[in-house]
Amino acid sequence: DVVLAARELYRFYRAGEEETLALRGVSLRVRQGETVAVVGPSGAGKSTLLACLAGLDEPSGGEVRVAGVRISHRPETERSRLRARHVGVLLQSRNLLPHLTVHGNIRLAQHALRGRPAVTADALLEQVGLGRRAGALPRQLSGGELARAGLAVALANSPAVLLADEPTGELDGHTEQLVLRMLRDRAADGCAVLIVTHSTEAVRGADRVITLNDGRAHEEHKGTAHTKE
Ligand code: ADP
Ligand code: ADP
Repeated sequence: DVVLAARELYRFYRAGEEETLALRGVSLRVRQGETVAVVGPSGAGKSTLLACLAGLDEPSGGEVRVAGVRISHRPETERSRLRARHVGVLLQSRNLLPHLTVHGNIRLAQHALRGRPAVTADALLEQVGLGRRAGALPRQLSGGELARAGLAVALANSPAVLLADEPTGELDGHTEQLVLRMLRDRAADGCAVLIVTHSTEAVRGADRVITLNDGRAHEEHKGTAHTKE
């Protein structure tokens, strides 16, 4: 079952005289339970792709569907409603608001959905091993705890699709393993997981690897994939 689909995505930026075509016809599909790693050099369009998939940014052309629903080419309020319902976004620790506790950050994410969440904040905290840090502020957490808290927020509404931008970028080896294991567990539960990453560990653990180069995507078959150093 395909729960994340992008068709012929283009993203054109104009900044003064400078014009950039950051995405040049990117198509991809991710099924339930699949983990896809997106790799490529700096400037290849990875962050732009992730933002378009999450409905944080609008592609200039093409279409994004999550859980069968088109999320692109809608007003921002509708995109954020659809994102809250179907998509978890993990941006290192940057998806935490500094003045809210860990528990408060999860509740805020759940509030965006209005209805009763499928999983309580307390259950989520237990799931990521932060049961005893519910009342802590982000700045009081260690790197590993921050990573777990960010994941709990991304999972607050039991998303069908989990998108992560360099989720292990600033982490030590031990914490990286922990985050990758948590992402694998979510995929085992049926989530479609897409990770933008430079980590060879993350690439090794993925079912599929998509390489972006100058706004174009191509998929290398695992086994012959050239992992980035
Ligand atoms: P990556 O994440 O792979 O490093 P990005 O998606 O950040 O690549 O950037 C792709 C290209 O688009 C780069 O040339 C970058 O400079 C350009 N770009 C990204 N965001 C913007 C923006 N907001 N305005 C103008 N150009 C941008
Ligand atoms: P990272 O590699 O950490 O994703 P990027 O270089 O892609 O960092 O860009 C960080 C932020 O700056 C992103 O929000 C991106 O959209 C924006 N950005 C990147 N390039 C440009 C640019 N040429 N002009 C304006 N904004 C840009």
